[in-house]
Amino acid sequence: MTAENVNIICVPYNYLSLPSLDMAVLKACLTQKGIDSKVHHMDIAYALHIGGDTYLDLRDSLLGDAIFSAILFPDNQDRVKAALSKSGVEDGLLDDLVKKTENFLEDYLESKSFEFAPNSVAIFHLYSAQLFPALCISKKIYERFGTRVWFSGYHCQGACGDSLREIFPHIEKTFGTNIHRSIVSALEQCSLAGYVGTIDDMPTPDYSDFFEVFESLPRKFKSAHIDHYWLQLEFSRGCWWDACSFCTLNCQHEQFENRNLEKIIEDYKTLASKHGTVQILANEFNTVHGWKDYVSRLNEELPGMKGSFDLCFKVSELQNEKDAAFLSENDINILVGVESLSKDELKLLNKGCSVIEAIQMLKYMERHGVKCFYNLMHSLPFETDQDLVETERVIKFIIHLRPPFDVETFRLTYGSSIFKNPECFSVSTMGMRENVEGVLLPQSVHSQYVPFFMDFTTEKHSHSDTVQEWENLIGKWSDAYYAFAKQRRPKKTSLLHMRSIGDILEICDARYGDYRVQSLSGNEKCLYEFCDKIRTFEDIKKEFSDINSEELMSMLKSFINDKTMFEEDASYLSLAI
Ligand code: SF4
Repeated sequence: MTAENVNIICVPYNYLSLPSLDMAVLKACLTQKGIDSKVHHMDIAYALHIGGDTYLDLRDSLLGDAIFSAILFPDNQDRVKAALSKSGVEDGLLDDLVKKTENFLEDYLESKSFEFAPNSVAIFHLYSAQLFPALCISKKIYERFGTRVWFSGYHCQGACGDSLREIFPHIEKTFGTNIHRSIVSALEQCSLAGYVGTIDDMPTPDYSDFFEVFESLPRKFKSAHIDHYWLQLEFSRGCWWDACSFCTLNCQHEQFENRNLEKIIEDYKTLASKHGTVQILANEFNTVHGWKDYVSRLNEELPGMKGSFDLCFKVSELQNEKDAAFLSENDINILVGVESLSKDELKLLNKGCSVIEAIQMLKYMERHGVKCFYNLMHSLPFETDQDLVETERVIKFIIHLRPPFDVETFRLTYGSSIFKNPECFSVSTMGMRENVEGVLLPQSVHSQYVPFFMDFTTEKHSHSDTVQEWENLIGKWSDAYYAFAKQRRPKKTSLLHMRSIGDILEICDARYGDYRVQSLSGNEKCLYEFCDKIRTFEDIKKEFSDINSEELMSMLKSFINDKTMFEEDASYLSLAI
């Protein structure tokens, strides 16, 4: 059997301004092998039909998926309506949206009839919020054109993918990992050229189908929703750490691969010259090995792009102050995997770092003015009330350091370590999300469905209780840190900073409303400065061998009482900027 052409279909609710990197790479790989393909931006066409703002609202609500579920399973509509009604959606809204969506699908598919030949392959690559639209639209395409339907991405790994094929027999194949290689090699069995290669063999992503649609959009829609698009390119694939217990970010790539630097430079130049734009964004899960060399060479070769190379890091990779200085000099924003400020939680998350290391990283970034983005997770299955108390205690020490941009509710996903070993993480039961897929899928298929996102129960406590408390906690931290910005005033110094001349060091502390100045000299000053990087008590005793241990401990305790120093497991870190 041969595939006459390949249609890659981007269904709602993809981000309108972030055309899919995976699809653009897949298209380029297929072209490299002489296989014609087209990325169909059905997401954009739908947003245009339904209204850009409505599209964005639907993306973030149950209603968005409910529309496609209602079309796919008309007999299940009453259950869906009952659930929507409970969550405050007005009666009749679903019916209206279903009607508009059916009209859209009819017109759209009619306009595509010459492209979906019976023997062609239609690939639905799922990122987030695309499962129900993909199930619905793929079935319509299959029934109407006899097209072969393949699914890839999230929801398609292992038993998840198997269950999709079992429940929806129109799906011929599913691909959960290494999709570019596995899809091309599946096409090879259709008498098309095979594909074996590393990330360096991957061609530059091909966004030409996105631009074809982009050029045809009305000016007003473009400026409201798409003008600020980003073309992504890959610095690396997968994650070299690949050990965080909650993570499935990495699930599409079985191993970590760095892309060759010269290839990346070529990618930048190709995208810029082909599409006449420099709205280009680096994509990675965890930073490439030798990242400083990458940055230096990119700045040398593409000086006008300096400041646009945002990077992702593990906390343990940023324990040297020189790295913060380098990031600052090169205008690099960073995304760091902090996730928790509770020691016990961090261990179970298996982040491979300690709380004091996270604080040291945040301090160095604050000192050098590096924009550091991170989030904290809550509602983990092993979370206890004590974790919230402990986080509150830690935050009191670090109000002067940049707070997280988000508090994220933990989601249990298929394939993560927590999923594989639930008993080690206090998970008692796990299963389909009762208020999402439990409603959107008819009861008749519940027993067959293997979910990607899951509800769980735990012996610890009910999580919905604490969500507000976490948000309040981080909200107060942000209020204090951004107080000057909220008053439209520049912040001249950190809320906790130090100055020194000769033997005098002053710590100025404005974290708690008043303004305290602590003056240090002699041994106290030397000890405080020595602990500007994390020191164990053994390091300290060795450095200050002429001072007895009790005296040293007494000075350290005094700093800790004033919250100008943080202690964890007999390691110490001064906190002033
Ligand atoms: S959370 Fe980040 S660092 Fe951890 S395994 Fe996933 S991608 Fe890697």
